[in-house]
Amino acid sequence: MKLVLASNNSGKLAELRALLADTGLEVLAQSDFGISNVEETGATFVENALIKARHAARHSGLPALADDSGLCVDVLNGAPGLYSANYAGKHGDDTANNAKLLRVLDGIPEAERTARFYCVLVLLRHADDPQPLIAEGQWYGSILEAPRGQGGFGYDPVFLDPDHSLTAAEMQPELKNHLSHRARALITLKNNLGTM
Ligand code: IMP
Repeated sequence: MKLVLASNNSGKLAELRALLADTGLEVLAQSDFGISNVEETGATFVENALIKARHAARHSGLPALADDSGLCVDVLNGAPGLYSANYAGKHGDDTANNAKLLRVLDGIPEAERTARFYCVLVLLRHADDPQPLIAEGQWYGSILEAPRGQGGFGYDPVFLDPDHSLTAAEMQPELKNHLSHRARALITLKNNLGTM
């Protein structure tokens, strides 16, 4: 079966192709069909993933897979959440985003700095599919008071995994890819593909 990935991010495409290699699915990029990014107008991750998957399915005529992810901090009622990528204003400015998060959490004690990375994957058989396959993954941790580590991206340097006492940026990629919200969502998706 052919599947369109509803993203123009080449990193994600490579990652998802590798992770889906054993499923027999042929993962194509939406850019192969000249499909541009759609405006993400939803109020939740799952709404935005549905919007992206529907857009790609409609314009390609093929089943489509979309993902949406971000960091949710409990004491901030889930912020930065949907706005994780542009929390400090400019899209993808990781240094500024982390600095803003640490500033906002200044003075909040360790026990109240709990957070999670969240990822949702949505697979639609076609644009009007009323029963999307939805898979979530969460990675629980907490926000440090200062960044640690050089690896990863985004909020990895400030996100501490309590079981390993390492930030996501201090982990080998293999360990992060084993624990991450994205990996967990993908495992669930793969386990449920047979129900489609
Ligand atoms: P995207 O929309 O899935 O590309 O991710 C949205 C934003 O969430 C990213 O720009 C990051 O700021 C944050 N994010 C998502 N996943 C991760 C992760 O694994 N590590 C660090 N930050 C992440």
